[in-house]
Order: sequence, then C-alpha cells, then structure tokens
Amino acid sequence: MFGKMMHQSLLISNLIEHAAKYHADTSIISREVSGQITTTNWQQVQQNTKRLANAFKTFNLNEGDRLATIAWNNHRHLESWYAISGSGLVCHTINPRLFPEQLIFIINDAQDKAIFFDTTFLPLINAIKDKVPTVERFICLSAFDEKVATALPEVIFYDELIQDQSTTFDWPQLDENTPSSLCYTSGTTGNPKGVLYSHRSTLLHTMAISLPDSLNLSAKDIVMPVVPMFHVNAWGIPYATAMVGSSIVLPGPNLDGESLVNLIDDYKVTVALGVPTIWQGLLAAAKKKGTRLESMVRNVVGGAACPPSIIRDFKYNYDCDTIHAWGMSETSPLGTANQPKAKHFALNTEEFEQLRLTQGRPPFGIELRIVDGDSTIPLENDGQTQGNLQVRGPWVVDHYFNQEKSSLTVDGWFDTGDIATINSDGYMTICDRAKDLIKSGGEWISSVEIENIAVGHPDIRMAAAIAAKHPKWDERPILIAVKQENASITEADILAYFENKIARWQIPDAVIFVDALPVNGTGKIVKAELRAQYGDTLLQNDAVV
Ligand code: ADP
Repeated sequence: MFGKMMHQSLLISNLIEHAAKYHADTSIISREVSGQITTTNWQQVQQNTKRLANAFKTFNLNEGDRLATIAWNNHRHLESWYAISGSGLVCHTINPRLFPEQLIFIINDAQDKAIFFDTTFLPLINAIKDKVPTVERFICLSAFDEKVATALPEVIFYDELIQDQSTTFDWPQLDENTPSSLCYTSGTTGNPKGVLYSHRSTLLHTMAISLPDSLNLSAKDIVMPVVPMFHVNAWGIPYATAMVGSSIVLPGPNLDGESLVNLIDDYKVTVALGVPTIWQGLLAAAKKKGTRLESMVRNVVGGAACPPSIIRDFKYNYDCDTIHAWGMSETSPLGTANQPKAKHFALNTEEFEQLRLTQGRPPFGIELRIVDGDSTIPLENDGQTQGNLQVRGPWVVDHYFNQEKSSLTVDGWFDTGDIATINSDGYMTICDRAKDLIKSGGEWISSVEIENIAVGHPDIRMAAAIAAKHPKWDERPILIAVKQENASITEADILAYFENKIARWQIPDAVIFVDALPVNGTGKIVKAELRAQYGDTLLQNDAVV
C-alpha cells in the first residue's frame, strides 16, 4: 500500500514557475559583459525562459541532449539554465579558464549539441569550434553584435532567437530522476570527470541549502553569488533564490574587489558567496573605499579553507557573520555548513570562534564518516582523530558521467580525497586535501594550518604552504606568500611570527615572496603548479640541515 498523497515530480521547472507566480516583481540585477547593469525580475526571467524553450523546438533535440554554457553570472545565462533543464535537456556549465585541450575534451565527452557563450569568450569559441564536431549551434548571449557576427558567421544571437517566441510553454512532466545538469571537476589528476545531477538531486539539495542552519536564505534576502555559475552551479544559488523568492545580484565578469564592493553598496546585498581569494580582494577594496558594507548580514565562504582572519575581519569590522561551508562537485556541492547550536552560545569567545572556524556540520540528507585508508570501519568522531573523509546522501555522485564503474566504496560511500576530523556534534574540520599534506620525517603537517596563520599576519595578503623535497626529512613545508601593498616584511619576520603558534617542527623552512599566486578557474590556488616550480627549493639550498 502507498500513502494517499498527490504525486508530483521534483522538477527544476517548478522552481521558475514558483518564483514567477509568487515573487514576480522581485529584482534580478545583472552586470552585462559591456559593464552595463540590467534590472529584470523573476517574471521576466520566466517569460524569456519559456521563449527560449519554444525556440528549442526548431533545434531538433532529444530529451537528455547536452547544451553547454560558457558564460559569466548574468540574467541571460540564468534564463538559459531554466530553459535547458526545464525542457528535459542537460545544462552543461563549462569553466572557461580550463586549458583549451581540457575544454575540447569535456565538450566531446559530453557530446554537447550547442554552446551558449558570452562575447568575452568569442576568441575561445573560434579557437575550439573545429575540434568539437557534435556542436551544431553557437548562441551568443547578447543582442546582435556586428563584431561577433563577422568573426563567427554561423552565430545565433540570444535576443534575436527568443524575440518572436511565445511566452506560453507547458513544461514536460519529466521523471524526477531525469538528468538536469552536468559539471566537470577540474581534474588536477587525469582528465576532468563529469558529475550528472538530476532534477530530484537538485531540488533536494536546493531545499537543504536554503535551511536556516545552512545558508538561511529567504525572500528578505538580496543574494550575490560571486561564485561562478560554472563552479558547481554557483553552489545552487540560482535554484535556491527562485525557491525562496529572494532577489539576486549577478556580478557578470567583474570579480575584482572594488566592483563587488560597489555592487554590495549600490544594491544593498545581504548575502554574498565566494571562495577565500574573492574575499581577500573584497576586504582590501572595502577598506580602501572606507565603506562599512552596511547591508551585508552574512557571507558564505567555501571551495577552500577559510582563514580565520577573514571571519574576524567580517565580524569585527563589518558586523557580518561568515558561514564557512564545505563541499565539492560530487556533492552538488553542499556537504556541511557552519552554524552554531543553542548550546554553543554559552561558550566563551575563544571557544566560540574556534567552533566557527570548522567547516560545519551536515544538513539532513548528508552523512559523513572518516576512515583509515581503504578501511570501511569508521574512526572515532572525537574531534581529534584524522581520517579519509567519506560522504553519502541523495545529492552525492554515484557514477561519473560516461563511466560504467561505480565511484563508491564497496559499502556505498564516496571518498572525498580530503583528510578531516569530526567531533561528536558532527562538526567537521578539513585538515588538508590528501595530496596537499606535507610529510616531514614521517609526521604529517597540514598546509591549511600554516596558511591560516600566515594570512593572519597583517602584511600578508595570500599564502600557500607546499611540500618541498628535503634530503633528510623527505618533505618540509615552505611558504609562498604575496605581501600586502607597500608592506616591507622579510622572511625572518614571517618565520618569527609562527613562533608559539604551531609546533617548532611545523614552521616552514623558507618563505618565498611572489607578486601573485597561480589560481585556477574557480579561484583556488593551484598548489600542483607551485610544487612544480618551488618543490626543489630546499635541495638547491646549501644551508639546509
Ligand atoms: P576541484 O577544486 O577539485 O575542481 P571542487 O570545486 O569540487 O573541485 O572542490 C572540492 C574540494 O575543495 C574539496 O574536496 C576540498 O578539498 C576543497 N574544499 C571545499 N570547501 C572547502 C572548505 N571550506 N575548506 C577546505 N577545503 C574545502
């Protein structure tokens, strides 16, 4: 016997319909590639979404076909997302900063039938178009543009494509397990791997991230996803804002601190989301401008460990609460978010700050465990024991796209590649990515811990700790750092700063100052590149003992 309740599939088209029906006039602010700001609302977004869905009828597509986007966060990109997934097609978001060979690989692996692109990426499209035979259409996310039309004669312009289409369209009533979108992981080892989300996994994830103990989103919020829509679906924000009816500010291509600070102040953003490198730039710009970022209530930091200095700066200088969150492409992405429990308000300031630094605890739906290597026996959740972090839940990957083999352990968990501790309340702390740990004389040193201390120094803007080969200890930590503007600190100053903050043997052997650190398309520091460049530093140094 079944329960006697209505059956309705959990579909992405329901999100845009809900937003258009109950939050029609809520603003969508969008920065165009030209720099111009466009203001629309959920109703207009839904109408364009339906126009585009009607235009697809002339495209000769089959359910499940993949259509790719190479675009910034803007309103046409948002409309394309809903039109593609809502129509039963798969929205494949592509990170434009991948190497061209990787880009070609993933377009061919996904067998994309069309590519939606921003004018910024016209040179990229021209460079790859002859190597992606499945792509039949290139749609430029803009009005007619003479320059683009000359450079790419077969181009279709988005505004022209939808302008004469009807705003009436009945969304197909799909099975909720139908695929909806596809993201490739950046693939630091081997080729990138595709994670194919379903309507059901997306809707469940959307509900979970909106909850008060996750990102706490509501119709009172004005949300700015700085995290790109090609970075794990902007962490689900384009879906969650439709679900709860909040306003969105889409920052387009300008992700520098000054542009973001101005958007926050001009459009009264209440919540913004991004990786740590974004916040470092934004905080420097806010200080320079002298703004108090009055409207900001919360900011969400994820994608890499959030240094304590960012949390403190936001709290004490801007009265803004930082939510530290953890996840990955394979977990849609939210796996944990840091929100306190009632009992934690009895903690003293230091203990409370310590708790808020962790990556947080899982929402309902996600389960975590730590194990030793390949073992399936969970290790103690005592906040001390470190192990390989594994996860399971309805929005966690099972198989990668185009791969026959399950990606799970023999007992059905996904191994994240992270090393973590978990305490008895489920608060998880990432110690490091397994491949970034530094092995010195048989002991592990966390690169994250060293970096967190380094960026706490007022004269250090960004820092990465990496393993350098060492004749005696196998590996030793070295620090690659970027100074704040006009700072005149020396290597000795930084090394002295580490005294009494970590055990002596964990203090880096050397500090190398550079003008900038290499960051990937999602704003994360590329440690593999630093290891290749500086990994032999200590071997060349005669003074090493
Ligand atoms: P990739 O960076 O491999 O392309 P993802 O964007 O999916 O792919 O990144 C997932 C990884 O990012 C996690 O496995 C973890 O190592 C790291 N990560 C994400 N959030 C955090 C966080 N809050 N603290 C530390 N590491 C994090």
